[in-house]
Amino acid sequence: MRRALVPLMLLACSTILGAAAAQAPPDNAAQAEKARIVVGFEPGVTRQQRDDVLARDGAVLRRFLRALRAASVTVDAANRDQILARLRAEPAVAFAEIDRRLNLVRPRLGARLPLATAAREPNDDGFIYQYSLRDGNDHDVDATNAWERRTKCAKVAVLDTGVDLDHKDLKSNLWRNDREVKGNGRDDDGNGYVDDHRGVDLVGGRGSAGDQHGHGTHAAGIIAAIGNNGRGVSGLCWKSKIIAVRFMDSEGHGYSSTAAEGIVYAVKHGAHVINASYGTSHPTQVERNAIQYAAAHDTLIVAAAGNDGENADKHPSYPAAYPDDNVISVAASDESDTLASFSNWGKKSVDLAAPGDGIASTWNDGSYRYLSGTSMATPLVAAAAAMLRKQGDGLPAARVRKLLLKHADVKKPFKGKVASGGRLNIRRSLEAID
Ligand code: CA
Ligand code: CA
Repeated sequence: MRRALVPLMLLACSTILGAAAAQAPPDNAAQAEKARIVVGFEPGVTRQQRDDVLARDGAVLRRFLRALRAASVTVDAANRDQILARLRAEPAVAFAEIDRRLNLVRPRLGARLPLATAAREPNDDGFIYQYSLRDGNDHDVDATNAWERRTKCAKVAVLDTGVDLDHKDLKSNLWRNDREVKGNGRDDDGNGYVDDHRGVDLVGGRGSAGDQHGHGTHAAGIIAAIGNNGRGVSGLCWKSKIIAVRFMDSEGHGYSSTAAEGIVYAVKHGAHVINASYGTSHPTQVERNAIQYAAAHDTLIVAAAGNDGENADKHPSYPAAYPDDNVISVAASDESDTLASFSNWGKKSVDLAAPGDGIASTWNDGSYRYLSGTSMATPLVAAAAAMLRKQGDGLPAARVRKLLLKHADVKKPFKGKVASGGRLNIRRSLEAID
């Protein structure tokens, strides 16, 4: 009996040790793990010099972002910090940093829309559920009045989890890369991306920007679900071209270098407004450089202030908190026209509020649903910016920003909470220029 017990106990012990080992790998396994970093280079550094610098530390190049002179690379995780320190001491290196994980500004999921048939202006049957747009109590952005003047918008990029490319209420409002042949395995237009026919998939590395999550599809619908087509919901823009940029995976995670890459892609393909419903508490140089690249190309980044219900001046979330003038940070308001309970605020770093609580929009299985978050408020402001942009030859980014902030509906719940003291009103912004 006794002899039989010993091996049983040993067996039990080794099983527990085995389980522990699976959770925390031993040192030699940890050394094999890879970490992502970003290395920015000084102007004039040659490709050879770049390769030499990276080769010294065994860094493996993932992608070189030419417009930003930045390399996204992988290194041994165990040596990451020493490698970063060594790189920062190199004269050729402008910066070296951790490639930060970014997350979508996680919304609260609501119910699917019980679509009913009802004649409204516009005629989309779900329009009755869109308090953010409908004239009613003063909680909307005066979209119906704005639509008397304009229903079309300039091109907008949605940097997110992708977009449902086949959604019937979005399809004709999605940008197509006409110079790219779909699915032939080649980079026909020579932009560095294979088969980026309907937006770009920076997660998969090739192909169009389909959505395996839903968040990006929801944002896209708030901007430009096809309006007045007798179906579903209406975007603030009835007609637009959305450039879908998938940089977050099916779990809603992405990296700062990929966000930066997405910004450059959007700018290069003509977006003057970029929707950024994602964030992290860590600022990064690579994303900051991409935002400044966007500024140099007169492009606005409209970003979610975050859903932590706290003062973003003290607890910033990036990209919303970058101080650059081409970044607009958006808080969420609700149907009572007060700040939504989950919304971040900040009278210095958050610019304005927009309806973001219980927002009806498109979902990635061809359906519609309610979601709540600053992620939902942000695309409404991005759409408003794109509508203003459409004026004449295109209003400059600085003018659009000013119009949105100056003509927000200033109300007590937003005073001292956001810089403008108000909630988006697209009608008043349009009236100021027409
Ligand atoms: Ca291409
Ligand atoms: Ca519709």
